[in-house]
Amino acid sequence: MTNRVVLIGHPVAHSFSGAMQQAAFDAAGIDARYELWDRRQIDLAAAVAELRGDEFLGANVTVPHKEHVVPLVDRLTEDAQATGAVNVISREGKKLIGHNTDVPGFKAALDKLVGRQKMPRNAVVLGAGGAARAVLFSLITEGFQRVVIFNRHLHKGEALVRHYGRSASHMDLRAMPWHESVLEAELAKTKLLVNATSVGLTPGETPIPAELLPPDLLVMDLVYNPPQSQLLKDAAAARCVVMNGEQMLLQQGALSFELWTGKAAPIEVMQAELDRAREQGLVGEPIDMGPADGTGAAEPDQTPTPAA
Ligand code: NDP
Repeated sequence: MTNRVVLIGHPVAHSFSGAMQQAAFDAAGIDARYELWDRRQIDLAAAVAELRGDEFLGANVTVPHKEHVVPLVDRLTEDAQATGAVNVISREGKKLIGHNTDVPGFKAALDKLVGRQKMPRNAVVLGAGGAARAVLFSLITEGFQRVVIFNRHLHKGEALVRHYGRSASHMDLRAMPWHESVLEAELAKTKLLVNATSVGLTPGETPIPAELLPPDLLVMDLVYNPPQSQLLKDAAAARCVVMNGEQMLLQQGALSFELWTGKAAPIEVMQAELDRAREQGLVGEPIDMGPADGTGAAEPDQTPTPAA
C-alpha cells in the first residue's frame, strides 16, 4: 500500500513542500505520495478526519488553517499548545497529534544566521500572524530579554502580547504602533529584525524603508520566494547580515519528515530539491538567485555571510 501525506491549505498550488517532501520519500525508499489538498475552512474538519485512515502518515497544514486545526486533533505537543497553531499532523494509531515544527525550524535558522556571534537578547518582529506566533515563542524560549512587535493592525500585536503573557513573564514583550519614528528608534536599539509579515512576496515591496535600517543588524525575512526580497537587498546594502526564509522552510520540513516516518530526513536531498524548485521558478516569480550556500542571503561586497 502506498502511504499518503497531504498538505492542507488554501491555496496550496504554489507550495515548495510537495517537491521537497516527495524527493525525500523517494531518496529514503519510503513508498509514500505527497498530495496537495486545497481545502476551504468549511471542508477542514472532513479533511482532518480522513487522515485517520490507515494509508495516511500525516499532513502539513498551512495558511489559513494552522489555528483552526487545533481543536480537530487529539493531542498537541508543547510548541503547538503554546503557539496555538499546528503545521504538522502525525498519527499514533488512530490518534492525530498536532505539532508546530515552525518553532524549532525558526530556531535552527536563527542559529545559522547568528553563526559564531553571541545570541542577541533584543529583537524587533514585524507581523502578528501565524508565522509571528512561532517566531515569538522561539525568541521567548531562546532567552531574549526584549522583543517589540510591530503590526499593521496594532490590536493583533497586542493580542499576541496577551497570548504569551505567562510564557514571557520573565522578559519585556510589547507591541508598538507602526510609525516610522517609533520603528527607527527601536531598530537603533536592537540586534535582530525578523520580517514575519507577508510583505515582500511581491518583488520590490518592502515592509520598512531602507533608510530605517542601521548597519550590523541581523535580518531574517521569512519570505523565501523571491529569495532576495527588497528588505534583504536593502539590509545587505546597509551592511546587515541577512537570511531569507528558506532555511526555516527546510528545517521545519525535515522535522515533519522525521515525525511521519521515524527516520532521519535526507536533508541534502531536500535542499537540492528546493534549489531546483527555486531555479525553475516554481511559483512563477522572477528569481534573483542568492549564493549557493542555501541561505539565499543577499551579499554585496564586505557583507558578512551567515554561517552555513
Ligand atoms: P498571516 O496571514 O497569518 O499573517 C500575515 C501578516 O502580514 C500579518 O501580520 C499582516 O498584518 C501582515 N501584512 C499583510 N499584508 C500587509 C501589508 N500590506 N502591510 C503590512 N503588513 C501586512 O501569514 P503568516 O504569518 O502565516 O505568513 C507570513 C509570511 O511568513 C508569509 O510570507 C509566509 O510565506 C512566511 N512564512 C514562511 C515560513 C518559512 O518556513 N519560511 C513559515 C511560515 C510563514 P495584519 O495583521 O495587520 O493584517
